[in-house]
Amino acid sequence: MGNRSAMLQALQDSEHDLLVIGGGITGAGVAREASLRGLSTALVERRDFACGTSSRSTKLVHGGLRYLRNFDFGLVREAVSERQRLLAMAPHLVNPMGFLFPVYKGDPDGRLKLHLGLTLYDWFAGKTVPFRHKMLDTAEVLEQEPTLKQESLRGGALYVDSTTDDSRLTLSVLRSALHYGAVAANYLEVTGIQGDRVELQDGLEGKRIEVRARQILNATGPWADNVRHLDDPTAPPLLRLTKGVHITVGRDRLPIRQAVTMRGPDDRVMFAVPSGEFTYIGTTDTDYTGPLDDVSADATDVAYILEAAARSFDTEPLKAGDVVSTWAGLRPLLRSEGDPSRVSRDYHIYRSVSGLVTIAGGKLTAFRSMASHIVDELFPGTREKRNLAQSTAPLPGDDVPRESDLAARVRYAVEKEMAVRLEDFFRRRTGLMLFSKDNGRSVVDAVAEQMASLLDWSRDRVAFERDNLMHQFDLMFAWRTGCAPGNEGAARA
Ligand code: FAD
Repeated sequence: MGNRSAMLQALQDSEHDLLVIGGGITGAGVAREASLRGLSTALVERRDFACGTSSRSTKLVHGGLRYLRNFDFGLVREAVSERQRLLAMAPHLVNPMGFLFPVYKGDPDGRLKLHLGLTLYDWFAGKTVPFRHKMLDTAEVLEQEPTLKQESLRGGALYVDSTTDDSRLTLSVLRSALHYGAVAANYLEVTGIQGDRVELQDGLEGKRIEVRARQILNATGPWADNVRHLDDPTAPPLLRLTKGVHITVGRDRLPIRQAVTMRGPDDRVMFAVPSGEFTYIGTTDTDYTGPLDDVSADATDVAYILEAAARSFDTEPLKAGDVVSTWAGLRPLLRSEGDPSRVSRDYHIYRSVSGLVTIAGGKLTAFRSMASHIVDELFPGTREKRNLAQSTAPLPGDDVPRESDLAARVRYAVEKEMAVRLEDFFRRRTGLMLFSKDNGRSVVDAVAEQMASLLDWSRDRVAFERDNLMHQFDLMFAWRTGCAPGNEGAARA
């Protein structure tokens, strides 16, 4: 992915056609698309790539079956066909998985409705779907998932969607952008916008730099309104933020064979998803008005998810002590009133008087087609310059060392993936923080020592990095001691 200092230099060396603010999946996708069209493209990220919503999702590359309830047919069709593309483009990151959808007496969606929805879902995927959905009777559902609650079970359906590693997918898309000529740097925050000039603060070295671009795109997800204010302090807010929390437990505590849809105490559809030795469960969906950085689960969120699991499975009820990790993300939804789960997931493009373009909304799954629409809007007439074969060519990252040699993974993360902080490695270059029993604590010293040597850290810097990582561990379990700020979920209980 290149050396950060070289990237900083390249950012300042010339005026770019496009500067993308935000290194989540949206920004990475747009940077890749613009580079594919031969546009000189730069991307800046105030913390680490994928540190926002793009590492805090349910980690599904899916059509979003439940959006069919809102008659969002276009959205689902686009997402299903992008899912099929991504299965081919990133087989190392996007994995097909069976999803079991049980139906209980009194559920809002009966078997017939589910069958119709899944028929449409299969139809959107065309001939490429490996397995068409199958309707199941009660005995067949229990044969698939013996731990499900049996009382009032009325059958269900089995269908295929897919799971991913959301942060690694984002990194992979960004690496692809860099391969096609983009430049990008993390820990570089946009602090001012004056026409075609953007002021940036280097979060690692404390320097201020300036970058020039003909077109600036605000792809900062939940932070989009903040960046709009840098351009126009009177800009009205576009977003309504809702918080989504997931918890992870050992697979032995919730031994499901495939992903299972389940219902929250308020009948919202949720998922339990197996991931190696673990099962993760989520998500919640509550209005959020607190600080945007380091969003975390609170006690109400965790209690809601544990209750949902207890209502869905006949296993010994999960307890707070079973929770191995948690994560919380903010949905950058477009402002509209009403129940958060019914707010549209579609995206919109806004252009300010000065020309700053903001993208609001969207989904991880549809990043490629969304990026294509955005670049069409920003640079009309450039679509034909893009080679479709390149746009759907395999994404990089299948060369990550998978052997148990930790040192190889650290070196790879630093040298190939611009990991520059300890947290980058534990949280986004690997799944150690979320998907290991001790959250990776047993290897903190070894990783810190190797990163210090590779990145020339002083003793103080090592101590600073360790403190920050410990703070992240604490935040993950803050719900055990008190309430995270800003969550309005208490109203739900
Ligand atoms: P982000 O990933 O938040 O990226 C924005 C970036 O901008 C951040 O990294 C931030 O640090 C940076 N930034 C902010 N301010 C500045 C600045 N001043 N200068 C520089 N950089 C800045 N979609 C799916 O397809 N499948 C799912 O399973 C799924 N599950 C979800 C579950 C939850 C709980 C949530 C919240 C969302 C889910 N989504 C899912 C939606 C999907 O995750 C988001 O739509 C997507 O990740 C948004 O990406 P983004 O790049 O727009 O925003």
